[in-house]
Formats: sequence, structure tokens, C-alpha cells
Amino acid sequence: MELARKPICCPKCGSRPVARIVYGLPHFSEKEAREVDTGKIVLGGCIITDDDPQWACVSCGQQIFKTKK
Ligand SMILES: [Zn+2]
Repeated sequence: MELARKPICCPKCGSRPVARIVYGLPHFSEKEAREVDTGKIVLGGCIITDDDPQWACVSCGQQIFKTKK
């Protein structure tokens, strides 16, 4: 699935929020740590390719890629 921008709710199951996937080993601020707790951010791991999804539904696991221009 590809979208130009982050959807407010999951296009597949309609749940929200849709999480932003953060790659690598980010140094979280308190705000970001809270966003992890609330499901706004998920950790994508350290392996980064050119073809990684940008967002993911925490409910159904649907991965969403950002449309490339
Ligand atoms: Zn979903």
C-alpha cells in the first residue's frame, strides 16, 4: 500500500492512530517516548533499505509506504 501522506486512520481496518515507523536506534526525547507508549511511533529496527514502509497500523499490521515522486 502506498500513500502520499500519513493517513489519520488505517486505510485497511480504520483504526487509529497510524504509527510512524522509526528506524535505527533513535535517541528518544520524553515526548517521543510517550508517543511510543501511545502507539504513535513503532520501532522498525536498524536495517534500513530504500524500500521501507513509512507508517504502520498498530492494530492490523498493515504497512504503508510513502509514494515516491
Ligand atoms: Zn489497520
